[in-house]
Amino acid sequence: MKTLKRFVLVGAPASGKGTQSSFLSETYSLKPLSTGALLRAEIAEESALGLEAKKYMDAAMFVPDEVVNGIVAKWLVENKDSGCLLDGYPRTLAQAETLDVNLNAMDLEVDIVVYLNVALELIQARMLKRKACNACGETTRNGETICPKCGEPMVVRSDDNPEAFAKRWKDYETLTVPIIEHYSKHGKVVQVNVNEEVEPQDVSARIAAAIRAYSEK
Ligand code: AMP
Repeated sequence: MKTLKRFVLVGAPASGKGTQSSFLSETYSLKPLSTGALLRAEIAEESALGLEAKKYMDAAMFVPDEVVNGIVAKWLVENKDSGCLLDGYPRTLAQAETLDVNLNAMDLEVDIVVYLNVALELIQARMLKRKACNACGETTRNGETICPKCGEPMVVRSDDNPEAFAKRWKDYETLTVPIIEHYSKHGKVVQVNVNEEVEPQDVSARIAAAIRAYSEK
């Protein structure tokens, strides 16, 4: 039975990573870090990092690797004794390589990569309905105006429109999918396919079953 402490969650934009990140962190006692939610919170606070990140996010571009690598490296050191879950990071091969080096320097490694592989048609339909909370990062798809977690307003993300989405999807395919290949080579990827609209808890159950099978291998 493998001990799993360091999780990476990979999926396309609007694939349900936020929801499954909550499930994974609660079920496996992991501290989650969503780089996207963290950057949105910095933008809401109008911090220097937020103002820098906003330029890229408004243009549906990735924030530069060195900016994101720096944030995550600091967080990993602060949380080195906890189980942790990275959601939305690494997003490029260069980020994955930096992550591996930073973890190795602490005698740690990525233990498992959960790859949420959701059909494009489902993602497109979801993206148009989704809202996000800038305060706590919660994401909903049912038109809520107030965050069910913290009571702050829910807003449509500035990068959730068809043009921005097309760009983000292309970046996902060309820049992010290679990290799945990178971790597959090391036998660390569990892939969960979602080809039909199912309840989030059904996706969670599939993920849990895939993790169980992986940990027993
Ligand atoms: P997400 O909430 O994961 O969809 O991220 C929203 C946006 O934040 C992305 O489209 C990027 O502009 C930026 N972002 C989040 N994580 C990263 C990352 N690891 N590398 C570069 N940009 C990121």
